[in-house]
Amino acid sequence: MDRNTLLKKAREAMAMAVAPSSKFQVGAALLCEDGTVFTGCNIESPTYLGICAERVALFKALSEGQRSFKTIAVACGTNGACSPCGACRQILWEFAPELEVALDDGQGGFTLRAIAEYFPEPFDRNKLDPARKNRLV
Ligand code: ZN
Repeated sequence: MDRNTLLKKAREAMAMAVAPSSKFQVGAALLCEDGTVFTGCNIESPTYLGICAERVALFKALSEGQRSFKTIAVACGTNGACSPCGACRQILWEFAPELEVALDDGQGGFTLRAIAEYFPEPFDRNKLDPARKNRLV
């Protein structure tokens, strides 16, 4: 699937956003290694809890058994490119350190970067290994 088609799916998912508080709608479409696409939208609750579109798409894919991901497209309408928040950057990097991130620019195009560019010094689960605790790297 090409990136423009994936972005179209992200724009379509944006329309499903549950954002009564912020009115800020975001959609995401995650392309898995096998070609399957999972979409997500941001979801806010009445108690101001919520989750971003990127994590909804990722968690849907993970819950369906997917483990390898190629590209995530993110759309937020005419606001221009909205890059993933810190929590999404961490989670996306943990499950897909090679992931491409295609951000809708709100003008019909997109920008493309690797998740590692958004998250250059991630907390790595390898640091939890006691055998590594005295190492700097
Ligand atoms: Zn987020």
